[in-house]
Amino acid sequence: MSAVVSAVPAVASSVTPLVVRDLEVLRSAIADARRALGDRVGFVPTMGSLHDGHRRLVRHCRAGNDVTVVSIFVNPAQFNDPGDLAAYPRDEARDVALLAAEGVQIVFAPSPEVMYPPGFSTWVTVDGISEVLEGEFRPGHFRGVATVVTRLLRAVRPDRAYFGEKDWQQLLVVRQLVRDLLLDVEIIGVPTVREADGLAMSSRNARLSDAARTGALAISAAIRHAQEAFAEGFTEIDDLERRLHAALRRESALTVEYAVVVDAETLRPITRVARPARALVAVHVGGVRLIDNGAIG
Ligand code: AMP
Repeated sequence: MSAVVSAVPAVASSVTPLVVRDLEVLRSAIADARRALGDRVGFVPTMGSLHDGHRRLVRHCRAGNDVTVVSIFVNPAQFNDPGDLAAYPRDEARDVALLAAEGVQIVFAPSPEVMYPPGFSTWVTVDGISEVLEGEFRPGHFRGVATVVTRLLRAVRPDRAYFGEKDWQQLLVVRQLVRDLLLDVEIIGVPTVREADGLAMSSRNARLSDAARTGALAISAAIRHAQEAFAEGFTEIDDLERRLHAALRRESALTVEYAVVVDAETLRPITRVARPARALVAVHVGGVRLIDNGAIG
């Protein structure tokens, strides 16, 4: 059901993608593309404002499928903070040009009314995994994510869908809902793409001032410190989390929401690293909320 890929496939040739806004046109566009290009359909859901992280997902999708569908939808249902939704960067023309250069055939860019038509009243809630960390600090966030992802997967009916490890907990939530709802799609996790200095790429980085951008470097540095400590033989969670917090505290511009080392699959607290664990961090810096994570073990 699930796989993780790491090598970056080669760049694809440029095509003009079909930009589709409603569900019926999407269905027929995908059917036409299947007939013309082949039967393997891959899907990359995004909220637009595309960067090299998204590009990596698209390249994996292009390499593993005949048809690539990318959605651009800033999903109001997953924003618990209306200010964050209003400030979310949007530039569809630029996004479509980037996707054209990557050889994407179909861009699905629906309005909120297409995704949530009048009378819409079915919501997908994933218990357990979506209640901690992001779920605790962003109430309702994963209900919005799970609902829109389910609806997008039903609309596109891809063979494979690609999600970034950047949003580690989201990847776990999506894998859980795909298992539980018997959705016939392979979920593929793609490693986080970073700036040269370590900052995880994010559409929200565009909102960072120079000072906040410098402060934000402490996030990936802290995760690296925890990883180095583990590599040196520290396996107690207390030791690893102490390293994480010490590195974050060095940067006074950051307000930490959480910085933990937990079981990589269940996100439950552990006392020592006996099987794969994950360091996960959420901070506010200069009015922007950023998350990042990294493997421990
Ligand atoms: P977003 O547009 O932020 O909702 O992200 C769309 C998809 O791109 C999600 O699966 C994200 O996890 C993934 N993504 C975002 N940033 C990165 C990154 N820096 N590296 C890899 N994947 C990413």
